[in-house]
Amino acid sequence: MKIVKGKGIQTWLKQYPLLNKLISTEEVFWLNPNLKKFEAASLTSPLTFEDVRDAEERLKRFTPYIAKVFPETRKTNGIIESPLVRIPSMKQSMEKHSQQPIAGELLLKCDSHLPISGSIKARGGIYEVLKHTEELALQHQLLTVSDDYSILDSDLFRTFFSKYSIAVGSTGNLGLSIGIMSAKLGFKVTVHMSADAKQWKKDLLRSKNVTVIEYEEDYSKAVEEGRIQANADPSCYFVDDENSHDLFLGYAVAASRLKKQLEDLEIKVDENHPLFVYLPCGVGGGPGGIAFGLKLVFQDHVHCFFAEPTHSPCMLLGLMTGLHDQIAVQDIGIDNITDADGLAVGRPSGFVGNIIEPFLSGSYTISDEQLYQLLKELVDTEGIYLEPSALAGMIGPIKLRKEGTDYLKRHNFAEMMSNGTHIVWGTGGNMVPKEMMMQYYQKGLDLSV
Ligand SMILES: *Cc1c(COP(=O)(O)O)cnc(C)c1O
Repeated sequence: MKIVKGKGIQTWLKQYPLLNKLISTEEVFWLNPNLKKFEAASLTSPLTFEDVRDAEERLKRFTPYIAKVFPETRKTNGIIESPLVRIPSMKQSMEKHSQQPIAGELLLKCDSHLPISGSIKARGGIYEVLKHTEELALQHQLLTVSDDYSILDSDLFRTFFSKYSIAVGSTGNLGLSIGIMSAKLGFKVTVHMSADAKQWKKDLLRSKNVTVIEYEEDYSKAVEEGRIQANADPSCYFVDDENSHDLFLGYAVAASRLKKQLEDLEIKVDENHPLFVYLPCGVGGGPGGIAFGLKLVFQDHVHCFFAEPTHSPCMLLGLMTGLHDQIAVQDIGIDNITDADGLAVGRPSGFVGNIIEPFLSGSYTISDEQLYQLLKELVDTEGIYLEPSALAGMIGPIKLRKEGTDYLKRHNFAEMMSNGTHIVWGTGGNMVPKEMMMQYYQKGLDLSV
């Protein structure tokens, strides 16, 4: 085994015994000892409520354009948002299977059904492209912030943007978001895809004139190569999934929208009504941005947990050891091989790890087998189709109840849990081709018998 930060693996194991289970790819549940009260946590945060509001305002400016070029967003007036739905049958089914009651309501946030690219990446990815677009257009005096941005849908703008390019490294879903949005605006786009990226995603992008470069290696390599190539070209803008503040803020906007949706469903969140949110985590930007936004809105009344595959627990590893992006799962002998698209990330974002550290309640891992079983169960009970990675959050309420008793005690939640709400963030699925989805379902079926 490797030496990490000058210490042999045995030293690390002694300091963090949970690493043993992590290394043997058993499922783990981890409570974050660095969680702080919101007040204290926000003092050291480099990003603020103002930053998130600025992102929200920018997205509003683009709504006339989005509504015009993506007709599926017309019913929400150009706002890219997903439904929040109760899933009582799934709740019942999970209670039965696990022999564990889930106190409180269970809801699914259907980012699987976000317009344009059918995954959580339609938040951050599209936001970052729009921000860059606005900057270029303002800089060249082609646009003012008081204009109706639907004028961007014109040959004048498309010709202008065609002189610029946008690049990104991705396991698939981020590439879809950046690719579709950038191509629509007229940019030249290159997506650097890791080995695990699905063929249909590459085909779809190529059909939209996006240049797709394929790598034999994993996500970290695709990002690294993309960054190097993009930096060599001054007209190229690189969307840096490992370090981007803009991606993070684009995700964070979800929180104020969720608040409104909870109000519409007459669901309370306050000192007597805790909210628990379970978010699938890859490099960290998506779940980190959303968790950060939720803390700004609900402060100490919201409790956020990340979920990662047992074979790619990079964020948990980075947070637990405090090494963040200075350690990769491969350093401790984990292979980073999982069917969970978007979560096959070996090294976490250091930027996200640092910012989220005082806000995050905890984190857990889940096996691919469980993801498939939950996928099937959700179809059978609610008729909702998610991709395997998007099921990682689903087991959260069960795990919290079984393994998070310290946390629940510390917060005096014993009686209060039945007033609480659990939201599982369903991060993707709508773009998955039907035959592929049937294969996923079949896998779940085979594993369930
Ligand atoms: C990207 C992705 C995630 C995680 O987002 P990160 O920003 O990589 O942490 C979760 N689920 C799906 C389906 C994704 O595509």
